[in-house]
Amino acid sequence: MTRQALIEMLESLVGELEKALGQVSSLEDLEAIRVRFLGRKGALAGLMPQVGALPTEERPEVGKAANRVKTGMMQLWETRKQELEQAQERESLAGFDPTIPGRTPDQGSLHPITLVMNDICKTFTGLGFEVVSGPEVENDFYNFEALNLPPDHPARDMQDTLYITDKILMRTQTSPLQVRTMERQKPPVAIIAPGKVYRRDSDLTHTPMFHQIEGLLVDRDVTMADLRGTLNAFIRTTFGADVKMRFRPSFFPFTEPSAEVDMSCVMCNGTGRVDGKPCRVCKESGWVEILGCGMVDPAVFTNVGYDPEVYQGFAFGLGIERIAMLKYGIGDLRMFFENDVRFLGQFV
Ligand SMILES: [Zn+2]
Repeated sequence: MTRQALIEMLESLVGELEKALGQVSSLEDLEAIRVRFLGRKGALAGLMPQVGALPTEERPEVGKAANRVKTGMMQLWETRKQELEQAQERESLAGFDPTIPGRTPDQGSLHPITLVMNDICKTFTGLGFEVVSGPEVENDFYNFEALNLPPDHPARDMQDTLYITDKILMRTQTSPLQVRTMERQKPPVAIIAPGKVYRRDSDLTHTPMFHQIEGLLVDRDVTMADLRGTLNAFIRTTFGADVKMRFRPSFFPFTEPSAEVDMSCVMCNGTGRVDGKPCRVCKESGWVEILGCGMVDPAVFTNVGYDPEVYQGFAFGLGIERIAMLKYGIGDLRMFFENDVRFLGQFV
């Protein structure tokens, strides 16, 4: 092949490449073109042996032409590559509108029982109480005996107990925490113990598992007025400053005297009627029972080694489900345990 013919062949590759690049529409095809023209076994490389076969004096001129052609082809190819990459990026952003608000990810919320429990803990820690917790599987001593409920005590029947063995049971109340705390700590004691408790009944108004908060304060010169003041602060913080409170005499084995505490009904503001109709929540009485309490029985102090001649204390216990039902106006206890997200998602 003559020098001139070879140069023409080399230069014609530029035109062929340009044509091929004009038809390509994907980066994959573009790469195939690079291999076809510029690869080690491509069209340009295929002509190089012929350059080498030229007479020595003709080689520099043709070699320069080959280099020029190669540089030109690479530039053409690079330019096309950039065009294709930009087009691809535009395509991937097609339909993307940066002014559309973002989609909020679904967020969990706390269970209403947890919310109420946290609120109650906050109220009492604000009054100087410490939050304690303990085992849900208890032994008979802590759940009953140390709380002044010997084996033959009739009040044990009131608490349908889930026994694991003769002496091991699911705690029926959070009161064992009182005993456990007093055993390891000298007065003054001011604790609240929130947690799950277990009974053997299940019907419209009872579930086998529910939540209680137990409170205990022991010190010198503690009176029933201190108990009343503490509970009053709790009720007003939880239900509002207008709520009234009253004590009714009652009986619990581990307190003496004992009382049940009512507060004025939050549904009817204590009037007993809602829109002229009888109030369902308080059954027209204007009062709802919310907790039990009393002054700690000296026998309980003796059981834990406190001197009942020196120390007095008060204790109270309340059901968290009950507080949550009154606070949120929930009529059915079972809703707390059905785990319907439409219900649970309402409480934030
Ligand atoms: Zn009412």
